Amino acid sequence: MTSVHSLGFPRIGHKRELKKALESFWSREIDEQELQSRAAQLRDRHWQIQQSCGMDLVPVGDFSLYDHMLDMSCTLGAIPPRYGFAGGQVGLDTFFAMARGSATQPAMEMTKWFDANYHFIVPEFHEGMDFRLSSERLFDQVKEVQALGLQAKPVLVGPITYLWLGKEKDLNAEAHHEAQHHHDDSACHGHGAPVGTACFDRLTLLPKVLPVYAEILARLAEMGVEWVQIDEPALALDLPQEWVKALESAYQTLRRDKTPKVLLATYFDSVADHANALKALPVAGVHLDLRRAPQQLNSFLSDYPADKVLSLGVVDGRNVWRADLDAALELLQPAHQQLGDRLWVAPSCSLLHTPVDLEQETELDAELKSWLSFSVQKLDEVAIIGRALNEGVESVAQELAAARAAVASRKSSPRIHNPAVAQRLEGLGQDDGRRKSPFPTREAAQRARFKLPAFPTTSIGSFPQTPEIRKARLQNRKGELSNADYQKAMEAEIALVVKEQERLGIDVPVHGEPERNDMVEYFGEQLAGFAFTRHGWVQSYGSRYVKPPLIFGDVSRPTPMTVAWSKYAQSLTQRPMKGMLTGPVTILQWSFVRDDQPRERTALQIALAIRDEVRDLIDAGIGIIQIDEPAYREGLPLKRKDWGHYLEWASRAFRISAQIAPDDVQIHTHMCYSEFNDILPAIAAMDADVITIETSRSQMELLDAFATFNYPNEIGPGVYDIHSPRVPSVEEMVGLMEKAVKVVPAERLWINPDCGLKTRKWAEVTPALENMVEAARQVRARH
Ligand code: GLN
Ligand code: ZN
Repeated sequence: MTSVHSLGFPRIGHKRELKKALESFWSREIDEQELQSRAAQLRDRHWQIQQSCGMDLVPVGDFSLYDHMLDMSCTLGAIPPRYGFAGGQVGLDTFFAMARGSATQPAMEMTKWFDANYHFIVPEFHEGMDFRLSSERLFDQVKEVQALGLQAKPVLVGPITYLWLGKEKDLNAEAHHEAQHHHDDSACHGHGAPVGTACFDRLTLLPKVLPVYAEILARLAEMGVEWVQIDEPALALDLPQEWVKALESAYQTLRRDKTPKVLLATYFDSVADHANALKALPVAGVHLDLRRAPQQLNSFLSDYPADKVLSLGVVDGRNVWRADLDAALELLQPAHQQLGDRLWVAPSCSLLHTPVDLEQETELDAELKSWLSFSVQKLDEVAIIGRALNEGVESVAQELAAARAAVASRKSSPRIHNPAVAQRLEGLGQDDGRRKSPFPTREAAQRARFKLPAFPTTSIGSFPQTPEIRKARLQNRKGELSNADYQKAMEAEIALVVKEQERLGIDVPVHGEPERNDMVEYFGEQLAGFAFTRHGWVQSYGSRYVKPPLIFGDVSRPTPMTVAWSKYAQSLTQRPMKGMLTGPVTILQWSFVRDDQPRERTALQIALAIRDEVRDLIDAGIGIIQIDEPAYREGLPLKRKDWGHYLEWASRAFRISAQIAPDDVQIHTHMCYSEFNDILPAIAAMDADVITIETSRSQMELLDAFATFNYPNEIGPGVYDIHSPRVPSVEEMVGLMEKAVKVVPAERLWINPDCGLKTRKWAEVTPALENMVEAARQVRARH
C-alpha cells in the first residue's frame, strides 16, 4: 500500500487560537499552564484532523509556540550566552526572550524561510560552543500523539540545514556591539565577513551537533517511533561542495543500530543535483517537491535503491488552488509502477504556508470556492490520490470527477479570462517598457519643472496610522460610518499631514496614506482578478499572521484607485504632491498567485493596471509618482541560475508600469533595504528617476555598492531609522549625508527617512522630520 502523509500542519488554529493564547500569555492574562494546555488542544485537534483525512503518519514537532527553528535551537541547547541559560531544560521565559527580547536583551535576529513569507529565528553559533539536548518538548509531544493511538512521525530540522541557516557570531564582539545596538555586524555569514571580526566556519560544529541528533533518534526509537522526518530544504539552494560532502558524512554518523527509519525531506526546489548523493545516503526514504520541480523525478527514478521509500509531494503546499488530480496521478504513474508500496504521497512541503480550512470561507461564492483548497482540503486531495493508487481510480471516481470539473471551469471561466487583458498583453509584444527619453534628458526636464533645491527632502509615503484612523476604517467596514463621513475623516487627516509638511518645509510632500490598511490589500481590493478571504491567515512570524489576497484571474483596473486622494492632497499645496502606488512585483509577491499561467504574465497584467493609474494621476496633475517595490529582492529564486530570468521580467514589469510618464514626470521607487550588491544592474534597469532605500542602520555603508556600480539615477539614502522610536539628531543626519556625498555625486542625492512612518507616533515623527529638514539646510550650505 502507498502511504499518505503530511510534512507539517499549520499551527495557528482555525480561529487563530494560537495568536490569542500567546498574546494573552504575554500580557499575563493567562499563565504558562493555560498557554500549554491551549497549545496541546490545538495539536490534538490538528492530529485528529490529519487522521480523519486519512493520513497514515502524522507529523509531530511541527507545532511551535513561535518558530520551529527556534525550537530546534532549544532542543539542541544552542542558546546564545547573553540569555543566561544555565543548563537543564530551556524554559518558556528563555524561549520567548530569544524570540522577542527581554528587559535586558534584544531578540535574536529573524529572517525569511527560503522564499516563503515565513520568518524564522536565526541560530547563532560561536566558536567552540557545545550542544546538549535541552528540551523534552519533542518527546512529550510524541507521547501525546501516541496517547491518541496515532502513528507519530517526529519532524526535525536536519543538521545541514540547521547549520547552514545559522550565523557565526564573535562572542567578544557581541559584548562590544551590544552597547551600540549593532548585533548583526558581528556576524560573518559564509562569504563576505566584515573585516576585523574573528570568524570560524560553522560547518566545523557539525561533529558537535551530531551526537545530540543521535541521542534524539535513539530516544525516539526507544519510544517505538518507526519513522522520523528530517527536513533538509537547504539542499534546494546552491550549497557549496563541502556542505554536500558533509551531508554524506553526517547521515553516515547518524546511522546506528537502534534508530527509527529516516525520511529525508527536501522541498521548495529541485535537488536533482544531489540525486546520486541522496540515493546513496543511509536513510530509509527521500521526499521530493514535485510541485516546484517535477522534472527532478527522473533523476531519482533511475536506479532508485530497492530498499528506499520515495515520497512525492504533488499537492501544492505553497498555494491555495485545488489540485489537478488527473495530472498528479499521471505524474505519479511511472513512480508507482516502479516502486509499488515504496511510493508515498504527500503535499509538496509543510502546510505551514497555506491557510487552515476552506470550509470556514462561507462568504466566498461557490464557483470561486470550487477552485480553492486550503490545508485540510489538501490532505483530502493527498488521500484521494492515495486511494486511486491503492484501490484503483474507480474507487474515487466521483472525487476525481469533481476535481476535473473544477479544473475545467478554471480553464474557461470568464471571471478568470478577460480577452481585453490578453489582447493588451499581446499588444505589448516585446516592448521593454523604456521611457521616451534617457535619464539625463528626463532629469533636465524634471529640474526645469519642479525647481527643487539641492538635496530635496521627501518621505516614503505613510504618516502615523493613528488609532482614530483605524477606528474610522473599522466603523466604515462595519457600516457604522457612512462612506461620505469616512471620506471626510480621511480628507481631514490628509489636510493635517499636508499642512504639517508645509510647516516643516518638506520639498516633496505626500498625502500620508491614511486610507490604506495595507499597501497590497488596498490595491487588491480595487483591482479585478483579486479575491479576499475571511480566515485565510498564514503565519508570518511568531504571533504575526498575514491574510494575502488571492489573484485568481486576469488583472485589470476598473476605476481609478488613488487619484481622488492625491488630487485632493495636491489641491492643498503649491509643492509637487507625490502620488503613491504599490508596484507589480510587490503586489505579486505578497499575494497567493494563480498557478495556471507563469508569474511573470500575472506581473505584467498588474503592471498594466498600475500604468492605468499612473496615467490618471498624471492627467490629474500629479507630477511625481512613487511606485513602491519593497518585495523586489525577496522575489529572487532560490537558485542563482534562475535569477537572471526573474530580474529581467521583474524590472520590465516595473518599467511597463512607469513607461507612459512623460519626461517631466518624475518616477520614484522605494525599497526597504539596501543589500543590492548582486542585483544592482537589475535595479538600475528599473530606471526609476529616484530610488529611496534604507541605509541609516548600516551607517550608509550599504551605499558603497551604488557608488562602485556607478548607479546613474538619483538616490535617497534613508537618514532616519523609522523602526526605532528614537528621534535622530540634526548632527547625526548631517553626518550620514556627509558619508553619502563622499560616494554619490551631491546633485543626485535626496534626503528622506528609511521607510514609511505609519508605525510611528506623531510625537516621534514631528521632531525627527524637523531635524531632517534642518539637516538638509546644513548639508545644502556645505555643498
Ligand atoms: N509607501 C509605503 C509607506 O510609506 C511604503 C511601505 C514599504 O516600503 N513597506 O508606508
Ligand atoms: Zn520601506
